[in-house]
Amino acid sequence: MMRDAGKITGEALAMAGEMVRPGITTKEIDTAIREYITKSGATPSFLNYGGFPASACISINDEVIHGIPSKKKILRDGDIVKIDVGAYYKGYHGDSANTFPVGNVSEEAMTLIRVTKESFLRGIETIGPGSRLGDLGAAVDGYVRQFGFSAVRKFVGHGVGRDLHEAPDVPNYGIAGRGQRIYTGMVIAVEPMINAGTYDVIQLDDGWTVKTADGKLSAHYEHTLAVTDNGVVLLTKV
Ligand code: MG
Ligand code: MG
Repeated sequence: MMRDAGKITGEALAMAGEMVRPGITTKEIDTAIREYITKSGATPSFLNYGGFPASACISINDEVIHGIPSKKKILRDGDIVKIDVGAYYKGYHGDSANTFPVGNVSEEAMTLIRVTKESFLRGIETIGPGSRLGDLGAAVDGYVRQFGFSAVRKFVGHGVGRDLHEAPDVPNYGIAGRGQRIYTGMVIAVEPMINAGTYDVIQLDDGWTVKTADGKLSAHYEHTLAVTDNGVVLLTKV
């Protein structure tokens, strides 16, 4: 059942990614995501979650996460945009995010996007019999540090299931060999939020948007994944 929720989530995110171009507003992307999820028989997980006013979180450049879609937010050539989507279907949630370049972006921005996705892959590679969440976090953080980047600490991945955010916390930093043991049957959202500079973030007055404290770029990559006896299954990958 979580495969179904994950598939709708992944498809909505892929469709949103194809819409990214200079001149489009984040509101237009959000509306398309809401329509896609609803048409699929699911409900947008984020809409009204804790009062969140939209179906997707769309965050530009130094915005890390939880950006609120708006008619006033127009994507411009050279931006990078994070789109984070959740779909609730037949009692279960999917949660997935990706970072997209808008038009032609700087080499540093492309490196940040690539390193963020790679850090996710290196993190999930640690998952196996006897592994712990500290192994995952240490792999993500250790990898991005090689580029002078940093993993956000104030916000972390999480368990997913009947609720969008469940135990355990899944930090993108940690100490190998420490932390919660990972076991077959767990479903977690692994989501490195990687900043080009400091990992410190600030919260804006709108009550949602989180930005980098130093104004540098941030990238985000997330899948909902199931831990099985045959390895990891990415439920939101399409
Ligand atoms: Mg998410
Ligand atoms: Mg998440």
